[in-house]
Formats: sequence, structure tokens, C-alpha cells
Amino acid sequence: MTGNESEPARRVQLLGLRPGMARSAVAGAVAAAGEPAYRTDQVMEWMYVRRARSFDVMTNVPLPLRERMDEEFSLRPADRSFEGRSTDGTIKHLWRLADGEEVESVLIPTPGRITLCLSSQVGCALGCRFCATGDFGFRRQLDTGEIVGQFRDADRIARTAYERPIGNLVYMGMGEPLANQDAVFDSLEIIHAGFGLGARRITVSTVGLIPGILALAELPQPFKLAVSLHAPNHELRLSLVPIERRYPIDDLFAAIDEYQGRKGRRVTFEYTLIDGVNDAEDTARELVGLLGRRLVFVNLIPWNPIPSRDWKASPASAVRRFLSVLTDAGVPAAIRTPRGQDIAAACGQLRLERGLSGAAASGVAPNPDPE
Ligand code: SF4
Repeated sequence: MTGNESEPARRVQLLGLRPGMARSAVAGAVAAAGEPAYRTDQVMEWMYVRRARSFDVMTNVPLPLRERMDEEFSLRPADRSFEGRSTDGTIKHLWRLADGEEVESVLIPTPGRITLCLSSQVGCALGCRFCATGDFGFRRQLDTGEIVGQFRDADRIARTAYERPIGNLVYMGMGEPLANQDAVFDSLEIIHAGFGLGARRITVSTVGLIPGILALAELPQPFKLAVSLHAPNHELRLSLVPIERRYPIDDLFAAIDEYQGRKGRRVTFEYTLIDGVNDAEDTARELVGLLGRRLVFVNLIPWNPIPSRDWKASPASAVRRFLSVLTDAGVPAAIRTPRGQDIAAACGQLRLERGLSGAAASGVAPNPDPE
């Protein structure tokens, strides 16, 4: 169990199993080893409470059982290949997966809590025009263990770096979470029921995949929804977000209403502001009309330039004007200042700078969790 261990395919990735299944798998190994049942509790505690990354640290478990576990199971879906620490406290990681692909996560400290933004895919197939992760294209889905591993390992680091655990989780890094729905939903269950992060502390952010929004609404837990909107009408949105052709904005809002009808929860909207593209006062008024009386919060995010577009971020004055139109009309909103710019914390930027891929438009301060 060295720091560079590879992951033999025969080993089951324990982090990728829902807690009940993981428990059954461990209990089977414990029974097969002739050990008492309470050993299962010990292993589960090491895995979920103490965030163990290997079996050899489980010192209250007999060595032969640990060795047996290590032959059957793995706790290491990825290894940290890079860490960047910003002067503003943001910490960005690249995680190298077993096949050599890399994904990013970002720890973002704000007064009162630590937020983790994690990735759900390597690359992305949806091609949003302001986002170079989209430019770069889709490489593959992350499996459940690879998603959960970002949370577990970032949480270990947060406890040392900030002396507090992750208190808020957003699926807003590389990839579209609802295009990897099975693995993402499994990871929600594992992080919530296994690692114990409250469902109200977990937000799934989508660019508007309606079947996934409806499926999220069906889950029994109150996971939160964020929608990357970026435009208040079909034509403008289509010019920025190609998935608008498949899931037009009217249908999208019908799905959002369905989610709110079932959950009664506030929906956060992300709106990236691009100079002269979607930042006019009239556009802000149209957005007010679209959001209507719904329970919402709008995060306004000055666009993070990428090499493939000659757009500019909206100037500060335009951002403030846009914000005023919303707040004057009673729509709760805030400007989300990009964080960790000295370490390329916007989604995908780090991979771009390391010559591996593209850049997207998040890496912003966490949404203020108005609930
Ligand atoms: S903004 Fe999100 S959904 Fe759109 S291309 Fe980028 S990663 Fe994919």
C-alpha cells in the first residue's frame, strides 16, 4: 500500500458502493476471515468517520484481516497530482485517476464554512460557448468512487489546512453532473448517508438537463438544485448553451417548478456576465420577468476569459447595474467574485495551464446558501 499504488481491476472500489452495499461487502470479508461481526463496524468507522485511505492505518483491526481487505477492496480511486494554494485561502487540487486522466476540485473558505467544488466528468460534452471544458470535449465519466474520493481527500486536507471539515459541497467543477446521473446520485447517497454531510449542504448544479432535474426532485433527500442559466430567453441562451436546443428554457422552467413543487426549496441560478452579450439592463429586466415570484437566488459571475473566445468580462459598472435591476425588483442576488485567480481556480483552468485541457466558468465564491 504505497503512495503510488495502482488499482488492480479485481479489487472492489469500496468508496463507490452505497453505504449498505459497502457494509455488506465488508461484513462478507469479515465473516470469511472468521472475525467477529464488530470488525465490520470498525472498518466502516475508519472509512467514513476517519476518512482512511488505506487499510494499513486501521490499527485496531487485526493485520490478517487488513491484508485480506486490501486484496479484495481498494480505498484509493485517485492520487493528488497537484495542489495550488491561493493567497485568498482557496486550495485547488488535481487528482490523477487510475488511467492517468486528471480532474480538479477546489476548496473555498468563507467566513463560517468551507465549500468544496468537485468534478463529475473528465471534460464535458455539452459545449457551452463560454466554457473551455466544453471546448475541450468529453473524455469519460467519473465513476462513483472517483467522485466520492475527491470529497473524502479534500475533506482530509480541509481539516488540516482550515482546521474544519467541508461544510458545503457543490457539484460545479468539470462536467455536467446530470449527464452522469447514476454515478452522481450514488455519490450523493454515499457522501450524505456514509460520510454524514447534510443533504441541505449539497448542491447539484446543472446547465439544464430536464430528466436529471426531475430525477433529483424524486429523491427523498432535500439535495439542492442550481441551474446555470446565463440568459433569460431561448434565442440568447441558445447562442451560449447548445443544450437549450434540446431542453428549451420554457420546458426547463417547468421542470424547475416541478422540483420546487416537490421540495419547496430555493433554486440558485448561476448567470455568467459577458460584456455586450448578456449583460444589458433590458436583459436583466427580462430575467426578473422570467424568475417571477419563484423562490430563487441569483449568483452573478463575471465571465472568466478563455483563449478560444474574444469576449470580455462585463465591466464592474455593468455587473453592478445588472445586480441593481434584480435586487430593486426584489430578486435576491449577489455578485460572486472569482476566487483563487492566482492559482487558476476557475474550473478547468489549471488543466489548461498544465497543457492538459480547457477552462470553464466556475471557481467562484460559494453561493451564500440563503436558506
Ligand atoms: S459550463 Fe458546465 S455543462 Fe457547459 S460545457 Fe462547461 S462543464 Fe459542460
